[in-house]
Amino acid sequence: SFPALLIRDKDHPAAVSAELTRDDLPDLPVLVRVDYSSLNYKDGLSVTGKGRIARRFPMVPGIDIAGTVVESASDSFQPGDRVIATGSGLSETEWGAFSVYQRLKPEWLMKQPEGFDQRQAMAIGTAGVTAALCVNQLLAWGNLSQDGGSVLVTGAAGGVGSYAVALLAALGFHVTASTGRAETHDYLRRLGARDFIDRKTLSEAGRPLQEEHWIGAVDSVGSTTLANVLAQTVRDGAVAACGLAGGPDLPATVLPHILRAVTLIGVDSVFAPPQRREAAWRLLQNNLTPEHIDLVTAGEIDLQGLPQAAEDILAGKVRGRLIVKVA
Ligand code: NAP
Repeated sequence: SFPALLIRDKDHPAAVSAELTRDDLPDLPVLVRVDYSSLNYKDGLSVTGKGRIARRFPMVPGIDIAGTVVESASDSFQPGDRVIATGSGLSETEWGAFSVYQRLKPEWLMKQPEGFDQRQAMAIGTAGVTAALCVNQLLAWGNLSQDGGSVLVTGAAGGVGSYAVALLAALGFHVTASTGRAETHDYLRRLGARDFIDRKTLSEAGRPLQEEHWIGAVDSVGSTTLANVLAQTVRDGAVAACGLAGGPDLPATVLPHILRAVTLIGVDSVFAPPQRREAAWRLLQNNLTPEHIDLVTAGEIDLQGLPQAAEDILAGKVRGRLIVKVA
């Protein structure tokens, strides 16, 4: 038997169980030893039970996997292959990362991206992939230029925010970071942020059209913050929205869109198609350095440490990314 984090039902938070055997795992083609995972905001929601992420029970949460194939009934993968999985319904309808072994569908897996080891791939994980999806969408839909003005990143000291800052700065953009934690300014500056605004200035309700500040933005906060960001985006600018750390509502008007042609781009990493995921990993491979990844990595925890860390990430106390050592 081996340890796993298990959510028994919707009324209980996740707890470590030592009871699982390989026979308890779903009947799926690829058996993987989960070497590393990481902690995302969504893992915080599912592990604490505060977010109703799991849609069937019992559930093994954990949306990011870096592992080694142990058995495979799929031609796409052989025992010994190093693989990763992010999103794809893990923690929602499918058993996920926080178990020493897991059985998975081949279509959820990709070979570990070249240039990153397992730990680095998980330091990046869903947060990095999401940041990269946002940046690629801004490059495709927006009107960004390196000397055109500033790109805003909200929730900057979080996982998605940190990688968005690093990627945009590496691409040569002037990045303004919005954070509620002034003590992270030095960290964010080392990732490439040039200016800072206090997140309070964006979280209070503002006018539907405001002074134009941002040529583009990556928003992981939602709610009034996203409404203000849209109201402050320049003509023809674009905003990539991926998160709800400040709330799922959007108290906004159409004015930025119909008077300034501002584009609001939705970004979903969970079911992003393979080509878009591959493009996201290419952006990460081409622009992240080992120093970026070291800076963003806040530390390493194990399965036992997850319940507390899950509370911490929801309380906005985690800077960057926590790696989870599973096997
Ligand atoms: P995270 O590490 O906890 O980062 C969230 C950041 O948001 C925090 O570090 C904090 O940044 C800020 N924040 C927290 N509470 C806030 C509040 N009440 N008001 C304003 N700002 C607040 O989480 P993450 O894993 O990076 O995820 C960020 C968000 O994106 C989450 O909502 C997550 O669900 C979402 N997400 C979506 C996708 C997708 O596919 N669409 C993928 C990944 C994540 P500062 O301390 O710097 O202010």
